[in-house]
Amino acid sequence: MAGERILVVDDRSENIDFIVEYVLKPNGYRALTARDGEEGLRKALTENPDLILLDLQMPRMTGIEVLESLNEHGKNIPVILMTFHGSEELAVRVFRLGVKNYIIKPFEIEEMLEAIEQALAEARLRKERDQLTERLIQVNRQLEQRVKELNTLYGIGRSVTSLLDLDLLLNRVVEAAVYITGAEEGWLLLVDEKTDELHMRAALGLDEKSARSFRLKVQDSLAGNVIRSGTPVLIGGGTHKIKTAYLVKALLMVPLKVGERAIGVLSVTRRVSNDVFTNNELHLLAALADYAAIAIENARLFQETEDEHKKLQAILRRTADAVIVTDEQNRIILFNQAAKSAFCPGDEEIIGRPLEDVVHNQDLIELFTQTSSDSSPLRAEITLEGDRTLYTTLSPISGVGRVAVMQDITYLKKLDQMKSEFVSTVSHDLRSPLTTIKGFVDLMGVVGPLNEQQRDFVSRIQKGVTTITELINDLLDIGRIEAEVNLSMEKCNLDEIIIQSVEGLREQAKGKQQNLVVDLPPHLPPVWGHPLRLRQVADNLLSNAIKYTPAGGRITVWVDDYDSQVALNVSDTGIGIPPEEQPRIFEKFYRVQSAETENITGTGLGLAIVKSIVEKHNGRVWVESEVGKGSTFTVLLPIYQDEIPPGRYRTSG
Ligand code: ADP
Repeated sequence: MAGERILVVDDRSENIDFIVEYVLKPNGYRALTARDGEEGLRKALTENPDLILLDLQMPRMTGIEVLESLNEHGKNIPVILMTFHGSEELAVRVFRLGVKNYIIKPFEIEEMLEAIEQALAEARLRKERDQLTERLIQVNRQLEQRVKELNTLYGIGRSVTSLLDLDLLLNRVVEAAVYITGAEEGWLLLVDEKTDELHMRAALGLDEKSARSFRLKVQDSLAGNVIRSGTPVLIGGGTHKIKTAYLVKALLMVPLKVGERAIGVLSVTRRVSNDVFTNNELHLLAALADYAAIAIENARLFQETEDEHKKLQAILRRTADAVIVTDEQNRIILFNQAAKSAFCPGDEEIIGRPLEDVVHNQDLIELFTQTSSDSSPLRAEITLEGDRTLYTTLSPISGVGRVAVMQDITYLKKLDQMKSEFVSTVSHDLRSPLTTIKGFVDLMGVVGPLNEQQRDFVSRIQKGVTTITELINDLLDIGRIEAEVNLSMEKCNLDEIIIQSVEGLREQAKGKQQNLVVDLPPHLPPVWGHPLRLRQVADNLLSNAIKYTPAGGRITVWVDDYDSQVALNVSDTGIGIPPEEQPRIFEKFYRVQSAETENITGTGLGLAIVKSIVEKHNGRVWVESEVGKGSTFTVLLPIYQDEIPPGRYRTSG
């Protein structure tokens, strides 16, 4: 690369001319000249040439002295020494002073040119190397700065994400934002989704009172823009009004985003200093906002869970029902106050202990050791000393263990007992005068002849008494069934119940010349139920079938056997039930009004009794019917399961 400036220092002008005219100019170098050492030194210091060609022997200041002085001034300009034969011994000294080469006078043009190019090439290389080193140092410095910033950010991130107290966390985030951006003030606004407003939740450098009451509509503010667009804002240079009466010189605002949802903004400003925020500071703040958003969401979720937990704890503590939660090994996880007063009134620590160590009620311990076949709840009445009864529902909780909720039904039991006593008294008191009336009315024809009209009156009284007796029986029945808290269940053979019911009503069917057919499978599994009540179901369905089927019709009773249930079907070829009436016939006192039913007596309670009993058995009842063709009533009942102790516990799905 020609064009470099070369200073030639020599006391002989012919030497200078020779070098300038024959070596430098033709090769495109720019020449500077000096006629003695002093001038050479001055020009070297002021002009900063790329290379010096320096004569050794000069008046006033020798080449060596020039070199020494250049060294003292810290100048590192490459030098080629021009010397005569015999001064080689100086070589060692001058090389120590940084001379790159020397050339013996008289020299050839080529020789000098070669020396110049070599020295300049070295200088160029060194310059490039120095520049590279300088750049490397700069990049290194920047990298170190980034690493420092990232470390700071990481440290802040770690400390904020571990915070669960929301207010503390928000204040830390704002402090960190101000710190990493070198800002003067900072604040954090969160969106209130209910009012669509931004609330200031933390601030640094702002007046505390106005900061607390600060609210903005998301609709119409700069922060709202950041929320809606999800992108940051950087304002700098000049003075900007960002909200009423608030002037800033520079501002950075970044969204706090959880996934795609912006939950707030984080902002820093400078009001005094004229420094604008850099892109790097924007990135740092955005990175901090990412940490902060996650931490805020975590803290909020934690707070919500805590609140829920506290609420639940308070409810459990105050509820009148006893609640016990155990793990899979029946070690106690929760034992509320009501459970404590029922089972272990002392002050001992019970959490974590096996249930059987704490509770001395054998029935409850047995219930906890039962497993239901289909993870449905187990239910039992647990009796405590002093005749208290707790109706207990034990449910499995997947991944936790079991929970028992125990409702005190002592008063219900007492009520039930009182009701039973009342029912038996009333039924006796109502039935005995009716029996008397019936008895004497029946005798009227025996004690003397009755005329036509008297016979008609007697027959009407007899019908009326029968209807009242049926009504009283049905009313008492339904009252009793509905009042029963827990039917005492046992293993029942449904086929036996059906046969007894059919035999009981066969005469009635025969009276109407009806064909009564029973079809039972050979090995019907037992069901789990109350035999008398199940008999009542069969009786009611069968007597309805007889009642609502004209003479000569056919009535069929059969049973289907499914996996865990059996279905009792009673089918007739009777008058049928219109589709719009079918959903209502199970209601109390509901009777289908039609020409066909006009002369058929009934209370409208038979099917209501059936439904009530079936539901107490956790079963279902329905009808399929076509007017003029007949009806089929089906009752679905759960079969008896071996692992359920008969008569004590029952499951419900
Ligand atoms: P009721 O004492 O009137 O028979 P239920 O409750 O037993 O009362 O029946 C309610 C109504 O359902 C009956 O009045 C009748 O209209 C209709 N019903 C019940 N069983 C049958 C049936 N097998 N065929 C036709 N209608 C029936």
